[in-house]
Amino acid sequence: MKKCELCPRKCGVDRDVSTGYCSAHSLPVIGRAALHYWEEPVLADKAGSGAVFFGGCSLKCVYCQNYELSRGCGTEISVVRLAEIFRELEEQGARNIDLVTGSHFAPEIAKALELYRPSVPVVFNCGGYETVDTLKTLDGLVDVYLPDFKYSDTMLAARYSNAPDYPDVAIKAIAEMKRQVGTTVLGDDGLIKRGLIVRHLVLPGAVANSKGVLDILAGFIDKERDYISIMSQYLPMGDAAKYPEINRRLKPLEYKAVVAHAEKLGFVNAFIQTEDSAVEEYVPDFDGSGVLGRAD
Ligand code: SF4
Repeated sequence: MKKCELCPRKCGVDRDVSTGYCSAHSLPVIGRAALHYWEEPVLADKAGSGAVFFGGCSLKCVYCQNYELSRGCGTEISVVRLAEIFRELEEQGARNIDLVTGSHFAPEIAKALELYRPSVPVVFNCGGYETVDTLKTLDGLVDVYLPDFKYSDTMLAARYSNAPDYPDVAIKAIAEMKRQVGTTVLGDDGLIKRGLIVRHLVLPGAVANSKGVLDILAGFIDKERDYISIMSQYLPMGDAAKYPEINRRLKPLEYKAVVAHAEKLGFVNAFIQTEDSAVEEYVPDFDGSGVLGRAD
């Protein structure tokens, strides 16, 4: 029996026969594979990223902005088909292959990248809740790591993501990502070729948590070369209605306080969002676009 210990949950289930906390069996589940135009400008110009949205998630935040997807919606495909999807997105002009929340399929992603290695950067877009051992299986296959760093506050990590160990896990994970990709490098086209972009979604009523995240990041990433992305696009989605303190939009003053803290800490490369970023049109439709090909 194969025991899954891919993520810090270490459920120990055999995913060939059942699912663990992440709701995933062994084969990759994809909700959408299509060009995507709303990533940070250093990732892609108007040609877009080639986004592959994986179903299931080992974090399952109560407010997840891709709620259905994180709970497992999507279609199961083979590793061979996943490799074909990478090639098809590249042929459509994608500036990168953007693997969105696929940590629970890391072995299958590694196999697919060994079958087909895109000529554009491979971006691993993840929740920051990865084990160092799992990340090591991607060493040399990923060009750009795009992790979240969601919480410095263990109480919030427990309340909203059932993961009180999140801060410790994320620090170790991001340090391993940084070890793998080294100094962030841009090409002549202004797009990132290799490196690190750490995202942080500011939550309502949690400015101290956000400042704590920035304080930690300031201690170990390169504040002049690596990127951070401070996101204001929170919408009360998923189960947020059951948590009154986050069942509202972010206030402009909360966001400004976090941005001011980043400036004070000396981050040079920080992406900042405008107040009109919190709109549902940024949430993709997980309608199966691009998932099934002729081979299926
Ligand atoms: S990847 Fe899924 S099954 Fe494996 S340990 Fe994590 S939550 Fe459990």
